[in-house]
Amino acid sequence: MNLRKTDIAIVGAGIVGLAHAYLAARSGRSVAVFERNPAANGASVRNFGMIWPIGQPAGKLHETALRSRQIWVEVLEQAKVPFLATGSLHVAYREDEAAVGREFNDKARTLGYECAWLNAQETLERSRAIRPEGLLGALWSPTELTVDPRQVVRSLPAFLTERYGVQFFFNTAVHGVDSSVVETADGRWEAESIIVASGDDFQSLFPEHFRQKELTRCKLQMMRTVAQPQGWELGPSLAFGLTFKHYPTFQVCTSLRALKERIERETPEFERWGIHVMVSQNRSGELTIGDSHEYGLAVDIFDKSVVNRLILDYARQYLRAPSLEIAEYWHGVYAKHPGHAYMDFSPVKGVRVVTVTTGIGMTMSFGIAEQTLQETGVAA
Ligand SMILES: Cc1cc2nc3c(=O)[nH]c(=O)nc-3n(C[C@H](O)[C@H](O)[C@H](O)COP(=O)(O)OP(=O)(O)OC[C@H]3O[C@@H](n4cnc5c(N)ncnc54)[C@H](O)[C@@H]3O)c2cc1C
Repeated sequence: MNLRKTDIAIVGAGIVGLAHAYLAARSGRSVAVFERNPAANGASVRNFGMIWPIGQPAGKLHETALRSRQIWVEVLEQAKVPFLATGSLHVAYREDEAAVGREFNDKARTLGYECAWLNAQETLERSRAIRPEGLLGALWSPTELTVDPRQVVRSLPAFLTERYGVQFFFNTAVHGVDSSVVETADGRWEAESIIVASGDDFQSLFPEHFRQKELTRCKLQMMRTVAQPQGWELGPSLAFGLTFKHYPTFQVCTSLRALKERIERETPEFERWGIHVMVSQNRSGELTIGDSHEYGLAVDIFDKSVVNRLILDYARQYLRAPSLEIAEYWHGVYAKHPGHAYMDFSPVKGVRVVTVTTGIGMTMSFGIAEQTLQETGVAA
């Protein structure tokens, strides 16, 4: 079988593979991307499309998220893919939620975040989508972006091919990778450097290495509304009190403990299904609402209506939109590690496996890719 050559070979055309492809190609390298499906259909098309630096804890992860955001804007502008630079609001209706928001705001500048605590009136001035009854205020952050993940995953390959000559091979599963060789059913490729960005597939390539990494999977249930009437805008992406508990960012707040205890006491069903509620809007006007978190290597293929109902009932309490009629339900899966936000290991010389191991791969992809490629000497 013929042997073809490329500087960089990438397995997986999800956002992590695409981010590596962009940065390697921008550095002048020839790049070939192999995707086993007709188009990527994993976590990268199933998410909120939130580029969410506020979710990253202070320090290296937050810095990587901000750098990643910068590269996102650069690539989206070049590729002419629309995005919304709306920022975000963590909205508080209970005193314990407001306490965390205020405490975080007091610490935010020192920790490197650009936040502001808004009172109820100021919150309503930022967003028409928030119910005023019982509103105490919100933590405003200007750094969050929203993209339509389906559009990104569809458009970036075409842009990368046109602008940088990146070659994409869809419907092409990689069944073997060794130092400088990628094997597919259609032939072998020789590459100076190989990036494996296979998402939550721990079985096809280097299963023996993945097995040692304590990885599991996380399943999330999601939904999307019909398009809102033209002219109605969500404004900032929204998170509510439950989200303070979800992201490690807020663990610096001593007030978080009381909030956690109250949620566990009052609403154990949220604990059981790992529910916290976030809302984003795409350019077509549809609202994406989620999510839940169920852990385990075996992902339940059957979605639970009880979970969707809990998410939607919670959203309805605080969100006012012209229509919350749901047009689509789905679930997505990402790789999960108990301690690491992402993993990057080299099973054999010349090969890097890059796996984001919590629900932050959209936010972090370009930042992580830059680091990987710098470390391997592929990009400056
Ligand atoms: C419901 C949900 C909501 C989320 N919301 C957000 C959010 O708003 N913001 C955020 O930052 N993150 C979010 N995340 C996390 C984020 O979506 C993921 O971390 C990210 O998409 C992972 O990207 P990836 O490229 O590693 O994986 P994937 O998107 O799963 O892509 C991996 C690709 O590799 C291909 N592949 C695997 N093995 C092979 C092989 N052997 N040969 C060829 N191809 C192969 C697969 O077909 C797949 O297309 C969310 C995740 C989910 C599931």
